[in-house]
Order: sequence, then structure tokens, then C-alpha cells
Amino acid sequence: MHVGLTVVTDIQDKIPLREWDGKVSEIKKKIQSVIPGGAWNPLYDTSHLPPEHSDVVIVGGGVLGLSVAYWLKRLEKQRGAIKVLVVERDHTYSQASTVLSVGGIRQQFSLPENIQLSLFSVEFLRNINEYLAVVDDPPLDLQFNPSGYLFLASEKGAATMENNVKVQRQEGAKVCLMSPEQLRNKFPWINTEGVALASYGLENEGWFDPWSLLQGLRRKVQSMGVLFCQGEVTRFVSSSDRMETPSGEEVILKKIHEVHVKVDHSQEYQPVECAIVVNTAGAWSGQIAELAGIGKGPPGTLQGTKLPVEPRKRYVYLWHCPQGPGLEAPLLADPSGAYFRRDGLGNNYLGGCSPTAEEEPDPGNLEVDHDFFQDKVWPLLAQRVPAFETLKVKSAWAGYYDYNTFDQNGVVGPHPLVVNMYFATGFSGHGLQQAPAVGRAVAEMVLEGHFQTIDLSPFLFSRFYLGEKAQEHCII
Ligand SMILES: Cc1cc2nc3c(=O)[nH]c(=O)nc-3n(C[C@H](O)[C@H](O)[C@H](O)COP(=O)(O)OP(=O)(O)OC[C@H]3O[C@@H](n4cnc5c(N)ncnc54)[C@H](O)[C@@H]3O)c2cc1C
Repeated sequence: MHVGLTVVTDIQDKIPLREWDGKVSEIKKKIQSVIPGGAWNPLYDTSHLPPEHSDVVIVGGGVLGLSVAYWLKRLEKQRGAIKVLVVERDHTYSQASTVLSVGGIRQQFSLPENIQLSLFSVEFLRNINEYLAVVDDPPLDLQFNPSGYLFLASEKGAATMENNVKVQRQEGAKVCLMSPEQLRNKFPWINTEGVALASYGLENEGWFDPWSLLQGLRRKVQSMGVLFCQGEVTRFVSSSDRMETPSGEEVILKKIHEVHVKVDHSQEYQPVECAIVVNTAGAWSGQIAELAGIGKGPPGTLQGTKLPVEPRKRYVYLWHCPQGPGLEAPLLADPSGAYFRRDGLGNNYLGGCSPTAEEEPDPGNLEVDHDFFQDKVWPLLAQRVPAFETLKVKSAWAGYYDYNTFDQNGVVGPHPLVVNMYFATGFSGHGLQQAPAVGRAVAEMVLEGHFQTIDLSPFLFSRFYLGEKAQEHCII
């Protein structure tokens, strides 16, 4: 540097100023012709395109995709060892389940795996800045509101509830059982008619802001070197190998080599070579599986077994009720399926009720059915909380559950035949809260070949073929 400067000064001393300008522009031209990209032209700017290669391509940048990206980078053995690309078709997340959810986390599940997932996730959320802090950026505030879930059971459901609580306690969750009388004492605004038993979470339950978690994850993974691309995954290019099982059955193993991404405002696709694909496309993950050929085989075979995840529309209504329950109001889940929780501090509430199979609305759009509240949800709420007879609906929205039609539980881990496609999807209403732990489980599977911290074998894809349901009794 020092030597170069001396030479230039030296030349300048010997050349008149006008000639010097000419020389400089000549040198500039020479430099531009040698440096690639020196002559910048917006038509050839490719910074918005995905890279040509990425070790891992994550399809869908919702909370699950970002959590997998985070844990892959966090658990990689050597910093920068793995190149991770997240492909998200809509960076406004206008239809993503994550931002349209109600942000709840609970420990009250019946499957030990679900309890374990939520126990780790709550630890993650409570210590969010130990996980997601970024140097020089303000700390993340998830607006975590600690509050127990209150499940009510009828006579018919009481024994199941007792069993569930036994499992929850064995797994380390703090949950108590309450008789109708205890319920009336603690929450006098509840009508206990038809209630035989209740279970109430004493810690590690509540709700938080899903958008903040999503943005916090995004900020963090970008700081860790994860690449993002706005585009839609439209195709996979794979190779096939014929294999024979020990019983003599022929199976075809597939491996994806290339992911085609259709970038915004273009009819062209961009191929990305990769080693691993993670399917975190939420409600649309069934379609992504189909693109990879999953389920396109003879019925009754593993090859013909689809990923049973599809969009199911769910409404959330917001109402105001000055006579409604106060700050002590838990998230109440009624035996009828209706639920509500407080929203903020001004006697505002939000809630809804999953429709029956016959009431299942058309998932073609996200319009809200206001009659569903009037005819179905409100009568159930007012029956349980008489004060709600005077409520006034303020607004409402609809979102998609990433609904697993087989057993309403997550699908985690690799596909047995498309060997480099991994899933983290199908959580049907509890995927937000489980995302921190599920991302870790998928990263363990990808990096180590097995689950290390929580054994999620009951959530593997193979259960759909084997007909083994991961039966969860506490679904809202
Ligand atoms: C009304 C409602 C209430 C809920 N309440 C709770 C709750 O209280 N607690 C809880 O834990 N969970 C709740 N959930 C469920 C939770 O929101 C979901 O399980 C979770 O957010 C799923 O996350 P995800 O990342 O898989 O999906 P998403 O957030 O939907 O992300 C998937 C992304 O994939 C993208 N994508 C799809 N196809 C492609 C493609 N071909 N190419 C590129 N990108 C693609 C989509 O644009 C989308 O952004 C609720 C859901 C709803 C709808």
C-alpha cells in the first residue's frame, strides 16, 4: 500500500495535470475490464436470486423453517460448515399460520413427547435473549404473558383427564386437578354445570406474540449466515435407486438433487443444487411432499402413502365485555371445543371453536364467517361464562391450521423413501409453541442421524403407512 502510493506520487510529479486526468480514466477502464462485475448493470444484478448450491434448502420460512435453520447453525460442528437457504414465497407472511395463530403455549398434553417438546420450548421462550440475542441489536421482547390453561372435562372425559394429568406430572409439568367446587371458589364467574373435573396449569403456560418470535428468529439466523430467498419452490429433480427389502419386496429410494425456485415477478425458475431438503411449508407441506413424488405409488404401499397435511380454516374472534373475567382469567378450554383467553388488560378477549367435520369451511380463502360466532361459538361461551351474554364482537380473522388428518400431531424427521427430505409439519394447532424444540430435533436428525434430546420416533412419517396413530387427547 505504502509502496503503491509512492509510485503514484512519483508519476504525478512528472505528468501535467490535464494528461494526468486522462491517465486516471484509462487506468479506471483497465481496472473495470479486469474486475468481474466492475461495470455494474442493473439488468445483470442477481443478488435477489438464490445461490446455485446450498447444503440444506428449507422450504417455508415460518416459525418451523426458521427454527430448523437456527438449530442447524447452532449445532454445526464448525462455524460456517453448513450452507443453509430458506425459501419463502411470501415475506409479508399474509397467510402463514405462525402470524395468524393465538400464540398459546401449554404443558397440558397427553403424549409424553408433546409435553417434553413444550417444556423445552417454554424454557427457550423464557430465556429468549440467551438464544436469539444479536450483538448491537435491542433485546427481543416476546410479550410473554404467563397464565395457566384451564381444561374442563365432562363426566365422560374426567377419567381421561385424570390420566393425562398423571402423565403430565410424570414428565415434570406442574398441573393440578380441580373439583367443580374448587373451580367455583377460584373462578366464580364460571358456570360449572356439566363440569366434572378441571385441570389447571400452575406454571410454564401462557401466550406470547408470534410475530416477535418469527422476527427474532429471522434476525438471528441472518446473523448466523443463513441465506433467504423470496420465491416459490415449484419442482424437485431427483434420482432413483431400486432396492430390495430383506423380505424380497422391491422399493425405490429417491434422492433430491435440485430444488427449483420460481422467483418473484418472473416466470423463470432458478435451480439450487442441494444435499438436504426440509419441508416446513406448513399447511401446504402436503403439496410440497407431492412435488417430491411422495404418495404417488400404488395404494396401500409406502410409496403410495401421502403426507396427510392440508390447510384447514380456523376463525379467531375478538370481543369486548366490561363485565367479563379479570386479570386472573386463564385460557379456558371448554369440553364443547370452545376456548377463549384474555387479550390485553381492557376486558378484551379472543377465542373460537374448531368446526365439526360437517361444518369444516372451504379453505379456498381466509374470509371470516361471522354467523359461525353468532350461531355456534357465542352460545357455548355464554353458557360457560354467563357474563359473556353481553359481549360485543370487535373484529375477527381466519388462519390455516397445518392440519394432519391422520392424528393431528406433528410429522418430524426424514421420509423413508425420499431419503433426503425431512419434515417439521402437521402440528394442527400446536406448532408455534413446539417450534423451538422441533427445530432442534430436526437438526439433530440431519446432523447426527438420530434424535438426541427428545425421542420423537412416534412422530416419524412411517406411522402413516403402519397405521400407528400418535393419539393426543388434548387437541384444541
Ligand atoms: C387460528 C390459529 C390459532 C393457532 N393457535 C396456536 C397456539 O395458540 N399455539 C400454537 O402452538 N400453535 C397455534 N397454531 C398453530 C401454529 O400457528 C402452526 O402450527 C405453526 O405456526 C406452523 O408453523 P409453520 O412454520 O409450519 O407454518 P407457516 O407459518 O404457515 O409457514 C409456512 C410457510 O411456508 C411458505 N410456503 C408454502 N409453500 C411454499 C412454497 N412452495 N415455496 C416457498 N414457500 C412456501 C408459506 O408462505 C408460509 O410462510 C394456530 C394456528 C391457527 C391458524
